[in-house]
Amino acid sequence: KKTENQMLVIFGASGDLTARKLIPALFNLYMAKQLPENFVVLGASRSNLSDEDFRNRVVFESEYLKEKIKDLKEDEINSFANKIYYEDLGGDYDTDYAPLRKRVEALKEKHNTSGNIMYYLSTPPTLYETIASNLADAGMNTQNNGWKRLIVEKPFGYSLDTAKELNDGLHKYFTEPQIYRIDHYLGKETVQNLLVTRFSNSIFEPLWNRNYIDHVEITNAERVGVEKRGGYYDKSGALRDMFQNHLLQIVSLVVMEPPIGAEAEEIRNEKVKALKSLRVMKDAETLHENTIRAQYVSSVVDGKPVKGYREEDGVDPNSTTETFAAIKFYVDNWRWHGVPFYVRTAKRMPTKVTEIVIHFKQPHHQIFSEAGMQRDNKLVIRIQPDEGILIKFGVKVPGQGFRVERANLDFYYSSLAETYVMDAYERLLLDAMQGDATLYARADEVEAAWEFVDPILNYWKEGKDVRMYGYAAGVWGPENSDELFDGHGFWRNPSEN
Ligand code: NAP
Repeated sequence: KKTENQMLVIFGASGDLTARKLIPALFNLYMAKQLPENFVVLGASRSNLSDEDFRNRVVFESEYLKEKIKDLKEDEINSFANKIYYEDLGGDYDTDYAPLRKRVEALKEKHNTSGNIMYYLSTPPTLYETIASNLADAGMNTQNNGWKRLIVEKPFGYSLDTAKELNDGLHKYFTEPQIYRIDHYLGKETVQNLLVTRFSNSIFEPLWNRNYIDHVEITNAERVGVEKRGGYYDKSGALRDMFQNHLLQIVSLVVMEPPIGAEAEEIRNEKVKALKSLRVMKDAETLHENTIRAQYVSSVVDGKPVKGYREEDGVDPNSTTETFAAIKFYVDNWRWHGVPFYVRTAKRMPTKVTEIVIHFKQPHHQIFSEAGMQRDNKLVIRIQPDEGILIKFGVKVPGQGFRVERANLDFYYSSLAETYVMDAYERLLLDAMQGDATLYARADEVEAAWEFVDPILNYWKEGKDVRMYGYAAGVWGPENSDELFDGHGFWRNPSEN
């Protein structure tokens, strides 16, 4: 695909995301010759920085580029750095953008970038509507001289109501096709590969339904705790931070019907339909039986003492924010009727892993009956790390009789990676620059996900006697999280292959 000449204007450019993710992603695209010929980045925020200061910060003195640029020639680094500029917004995002517009016009002339402009909102979300409205006031959202697009960072709302408010607020100034809501999980190769696994093979899709699948399990585990983000995390929690966005995106790709084609709207229509078919849990009894929350408590991990969540910097010592969430739910449609889905996400687990496990039903009629054998087939899709696909199936143990054991067919995605694999932000930025919104979340998708999550959050906040369990840092969550399986199994240990 062709990437047209354009300008990228980053609001909140003095922040962490710009230095840590955006500029390194742009640098990689630059090195891979994927940036358009005429291209400029204009950082904008309230900090008082010159172009030079900003270049030093995000390129020359950036700890995130250090490794990448250390062996490069000076003019190579300079030719990248010279594409980067900075505009001081003068103390407030809610201001007249006429000076910003003037700067944009001047850079457009100087670098011949055309009137195509991508605005990247990398500020706290409370400013998104303010920025959109000021862009509109300055006539910077009009598309009569080149397209204007808006990339929005998560979180997309704090609840269903706030998500709707945010969407409505942005829609006053930008149309839905102009808006790109970034979910970096969708930029991951193995998440995209879910679509290919399902819809380009004939060996999986015929089995991908209630007739053959017993249950579906999704685990997202972080080894780290909240690190320096205690203050932010305490207002968010596992359900908002991971489940509402990344994990429900994965769920939608597992659940969706085959789209009629691979165009953005064709895929997104099916994802919305999938999210709308999740059975919303309404009454306290259902919520009590199907949701578990917990916090990590202090422990010793690898011989080192580790703080409990409530002792972390920035966290309220009486906090009721969950660092572990496990949810069981059903999908009310023809394909998935009666198949339970189990999804958990947590910090301070034994290892970092994200995986999807499709548990197939056991054969109807067992002829090799030895006690204690696991007979179900599993398809394990590893999203990270060790991206790949594992199929577990039964084989005969050599020797007399018919003893059956589990064997693995294991595929590692890295074995394909002779060519360079883009990181999530690179892929997503390039897609947006090319106008491809397939891997971006649409407004109705975000709202459908909140419809499902809102009642759980409300129940956890206001329900009577909702337990907050504890788990020692470094274990797979509270012991009772297996109770969700109701005697029909337990969480797979992702460390065991
Ligand atoms: P950040 O460092 O906290 O903020 C970015 C910039 O926004 C700041 O440098 C600041 O620049 C400006 N700002 C304006 N009002 C502010 C306020 N009240 N408090 C703090 N900063 C304010 O954020 P970030 O980590 O770069 O993330 C940007 C956006 O991406 C956020 O919406 C975040 O939720 C999202 N996000 C970040 C990450 C990540 O890894 N960092 C991951 C996923 C999503 P000036 O003071 O110069 O104006």
